[in-house]
Amino acid sequence: MSNDLDDTLKQLVGEAKRAVGEAGDERALDDVRVRYLGKKGELTALLKSLGQLAPEDRPAAGARINAAKDELQDAIGARRQHLSREQMARALEAEQVDVTLPGRRDAGGGLHPVTQALLRMEDIFVGAGYSVVTGPEVENDYYNFEALNIPAHHPARAMHDTFYFADGTLLRTHTSPSQVHTMEREEPPIRVICPGRVYRRDSDLTHSPMFQQLEGLVIDRGISFADLKGTVIEFLQRFFEKELSVRFRPSYFPFTEPSAEVDVQCVQCLGEGCRVCSHTGWLEVMGCGVVHPNVLEMSGIDSETYSGFAFGMGIDRLAMLLYEVDDLRLFYDNDLRFLRQFN
Ligand SMILES: [Zn+2]
Repeated sequence: MSNDLDDTLKQLVGEAKRAVGEAGDERALDDVRVRYLGKKGELTALLKSLGQLAPEDRPAAGARINAAKDELQDAIGARRQHLSREQMARALEAEQVDVTLPGRRDAGGGLHPVTQALLRMEDIFVGAGYSVVTGPEVENDYYNFEALNIPAHHPARAMHDTFYFADGTLLRTHTSPSQVHTMEREEPPIRVICPGRVYRRDSDLTHSPMFQQLEGLVIDRGISFADLKGTVIEFLQRFFEKELSVRFRPSYFPFTEPSAEVDVQCVQCLGEGCRVCSHTGWLEVMGCGVVHPNVLEMSGIDSETYSGFAFGMGIDRLAMLLYEVDDLRLFYDNDLRFLRQFN
């Protein structure tokens, strides 16, 4: 009887160990464990059959079956460890990372040249104590014209080629409405610049229906045309980083009196005469003047006590001159070959 048991155990354990050795993964290994050691497993069945033995034979037979069980459990444990090491090795192999490879860089973006020109302007004026003010692009007649001393039927309205909406509102033709809002809101001293998009029904080589303007307004006691000249000359020389000559030509704007157009010595030829300046040696860069008393009064500022000056220029135009770009449309074509040159 005991020899029979030994043979059976030997055969069973041998068979089980082969199955363990062949189990290729955790799951197969668990199937083997269940087949031999589970509740209905073959070794478990053997233990249950002890009851059929004579009582004096049971302890010895039980001990041998338990030893066989331990042996099989050890084999399963060893196989499990082996499988898990193998799996880890496979994972390390598959997920190998070459830390010496160069990293992937983000594509470098850059600011649009017109934005760069605007920031350059803002820097200069903010450094001189100005605040930056913006306003709505859709305005009404009062802020775009009336409050700027351009009443209905004033001939200056014809120069503006305005886009009107059906309800009588309009796309602002200049950033001057922002200055009116500022004068209504704040008490002098006022020192602001108003950059932004403006719209006119006008489109050719040097005009686009939308362009960007920067206007400035200073109001305080005792402000004169001399302050305006000093400010404009200082700004232009800083913007172009050159000691350029500047000249003021008498002009007319409804909202300033006296008014002037400002020419700067050609940044390309320095006055010699070239294609950029149409061989005049000068470039027209802005309009300006002393704020008309009517404009101050309409926004509730006492024109007896205060005076001021205002100026306005095209940001696109100054960007063209600064970066030596000869076609305005290049700024709006979004051609990356062009834009990358400004990164
Ligand atoms: Zn020139």
